[in-house]
Amino acid sequence: MGIAACFNCGHIKRGPFHKCPECGKDPKMLDVHTKAVSLYLSSDAFDPELVEEPDPARVRRFSEQIRVGKGVEIDPETLAKLMKIVIEIEQHPVPWWKVLVFLIVCILPAVVTLFVWLILW
Ligand SMILES: [Zn+2]
Repeated sequence: MGIAACFNCGHIKRGPFHKCPECGKDPKMLDVHTKAVSLYLSSDAFDPELVEEPDPARVRRFSEQIRVGKGVEIDPETLAKLMKIVIEIEQHPVPWWKVLVFLIVCILPAVVTLFVWLILW
């Protein structure tokens, strides 16, 4: 997992689709265009052809540009490709068994703990 600059305030956050802890903007809840921009501002290079330097220094430079209000220019062709990637990601939702594994791993221990607590109490 790399880092990403927030499209709105430039804050460095964990990943392109994470909610920004600084301004609260959440690309997951926004449109394809915003998601594509977020992806571009991240170090998660899905396609090395799209991002010329997929490194944290690039993300920090974007962050700086957004913070000072200059913004980041994205070549329309690159943006179009990124939007296609975002649409592809969205069309392949998490398989049901992954959801099941998540439920078993995260929810079950909590439920068991609650039951044990109730019985002992
Ligand atoms: Zn932000």
